[in-house]
Amino acid sequence: MAHAVFAGSFDPPTFGHLDIIARASSIFETLHVVVAANRNKRGLFEPEERAQLLTASIDAMTNVFVAVWDGLVVDYARNAGCTILVRGVRGITDFASEYDMAILNSQLEPTIETFLICADPRYSTLSSSAVKEFAHFRRDISALVPSPVLKALADRRP
Ligand code: ADP
Repeated sequence: MAHAVFAGSFDPPTFGHLDIIARASSIFETLHVVVAANRNKRGLFEPEERAQLLTASIDAMTNVFVAVWDGLVVDYARNAGCTILVRGVRGITDFASEYDMAILNSQLEPTIETFLICADPRYSTLSSSAVKEFAHFRRDISALVPSPVLKALADRRP
């Protein structure tokens, strides 16, 4: 069985991310959830905070590891012995950019495959940006994010 990486911004993690994590962790031997620390894009939460929120939200999954990485995802994968990059696809718009990213990554590292998982229809319109927007206007987001994220957003209203 292969070892996989699921990388993203996770600013903050949502039930859409957690659904992909749960499904990918049942397919692959281990799943490394990697918070990409983008030097050009400051998020609401620091990368280490996002990693803590992910760790607090996935406590029951013993083959899932959380890390922060500020390099290319393919380099993380190679260093960690992972051969698969998992991504979630919410629809045709995600597919177009994920397809391009998969081709670029295969050019960087031909031994690594991208594995796309279709979003659960319950979460197919859910994004971290929407969560931040709703939290800003004090809407109920309890159906969109796990409780550690709910609390973190209440403490730091975007
Ligand atoms: P990035 O900025 O790298 O796309 P995100 O945190 O927005 O980071 O997303 C990380 C991954 O999770 C991407 O593959 C994205 O398509 C997927 N994803 C985001 N939201 C959802 C969702 N609601 N359902 C399924 N997959 C999702």
